[in-house]
Amino acid sequence: MRAVLVGPPGAGKGTQAQILATELKVPKVSTGDIFRFNVSKGTELGLRAKEYMDRGDLVPDQVTNAMVKDRLSQDDAAGGFLLDGFPRNVNQAETLKSMLSDLGTGLDVVLELQVDEEEVVRRLSGRRSCPECGRVYHVEHDAPRVAGRCDDDGAELYQREDDREETIRHRLKVYREQTVPLVEFYEREGLLVGISATGPVDEVTARAKAAIAEKKVS
Ligand code: ADP
Ligand code: AMP
Repeated sequence: MRAVLVGPPGAGKGTQAQILATELKVPKVSTGDIFRFNVSKGTELGLRAKEYMDRGDLVPDQVTNAMVKDRLSQDDAAGGFLLDGFPRNVNQAETLKSMLSDLGTGLDVVLELQVDEEEVVRRLSGRRSCPECGRVYHVEHDAPRVAGRCDDDGAELYQREDDREETIRHRLKVYREQTVPLVEFYEREGLLVGISATGPVDEVTARAKAAIAEKKVS
């Protein structure tokens, strides 16, 4: 299974990718997580990405595409992957297409998580993330068992710098301008399946699984 999750920031891509990747037995590849890991370690890639991330802008395609190419060429991604947060614009989608075509393969499905903007702002304002494993929580909708601690590894959860309301609004603008055309691109390619991403997490997962299964047989 080679799948992409697309949707505005806060739609629940990371939440669903974590669950679906485990169930589908493929690695979750989140470009946001890879960038944040590099920022936290102070690597050259992290230093290049940080200023864009802090503003809520996209990291330049050249940097992002090279990073994804490197990640998808690793052994664990040979049998499939679930991409979360990549591609984010048409140029990245074209690059992914030729990357996969060089490997003699292509995408199976692009799942669009649909949710309205006010819900996104509510979700992102309450988001807390694990610095160790990248798992995300919400202070009300999906709270950890022990407040402030990751259920999986006990690490102290943190609030992302770009989850402030002003930056959230800017990220939504970037989504409308750069990522919505990508959704149209995948619709033309016949790969897109849209599902509602509102309601409880497990209901969204059930919709996602049904949509993936339907796409596989069609
Ligand atoms: P994205 O990866 O698309 O930016 P996340 O998966 O990080 O989104 O989710 C954003 C926030 O919304 C997190 O705090 C997460 O716990 C919460 N969330 C995810 N799915 C739901 C849902 N179905 N209902 C309510 N809150 C959700
Ligand atoms: P995310 O974790 O997906 O919300 O991404 C956080 C930030 O990382 C974004 O606001 C961008 O600055 C950067 N980023 C993540 N994925 C990409 C991508 N595919 N292209 C460019 N920038 C990205």
